[in-house]
Amino acid sequence: MTRIPLIAGNWKMFKTGPEAVDTATHLAQACADVQNKDIMIAPTYVCLPLVATAIADTSLHLGAQNLHFEKQGAFTGEISADMLAAAGVEYVIIGHSERRQYFFETDETVNKKILAAVSNRLKPILCIGETLAQREAGNTFLTLDKQVADGLKSVDPERLQDLVIAYEPVWAIGTGETAGPEQVETVHRFLRTLVDTKISSDLARTVRIIYGGSVKPDNIATLMCIEDVDGVLVGGASLDARIFTQIVKYD
Ligand code: PGA
Repeated sequence: MTRIPLIAGNWKMFKTGPEAVDTATHLAQACADVQNKDIMIAPTYVCLPLVATAIADTSLHLGAQNLHFEKQGAFTGEISADMLAAAGVEYVIIGHSERRQYFFETDETVNKKILAAVSNRLKPILCIGETLAQREAGNTFLTLDKQVADGLKSVDPERLQDLVIAYEPVWAIGTGETAGPEQVETVHRFLRTLVDTKISSDLARTVRIIYGGSVKPDNIATLMCIEDVDGVLVGGASLDARIFTQIVKYD
């Protein structure tokens, strides 16, 4: 089973519309010759239609950073899965640690968002990861087990064919700290085994498990050599088209 690597950029709350279009356009040009890798960028909500147009005839894929699980209604400030799909979005990041930390998302809301995403044929990127306190208390695997089990609860495995799991240790996000290759290898193997035993063997073979947390041009090659690493979710280093291209084109 070959899993196509996913190199995903999470632009968080950066870039105005013109800036997003400019970065997306440069990235698309620089990566036009890339084969056998999926490259995804996730701009802010307001930039999605602009970036969708800018990358329409390129190999780049479009992602959103969040969604609301309700279909529509009086939910001021929120955006639903079918609105994202109609705007040309293909992937959606769900349960990022910043959403959990600053916007009080729980495994239960994450689960509802996964259901909303798959119901609208969006490819969910389920973000999980332990905090430093959880790691130091020896609770890394317990934490990840719960985040996966609760996040995917009651979702028909048939609908999870496009699922991506992003392992992002919270202590490595935006800190310059990267989990060591052995830590990453151990966790990714654990996650694939977890999907195998708790969800389905077929899904365990196909699910892409990507790593996030201070990914840079100088650590990408090491990360991508690790057996169960199927790509990366990049924050800060995805904001500059030139630097992100170096990550995409690592060797
Ligand atoms: P970072 O962010 O690459 O800036 O550490 C990663 C993420 O939040 O997905």
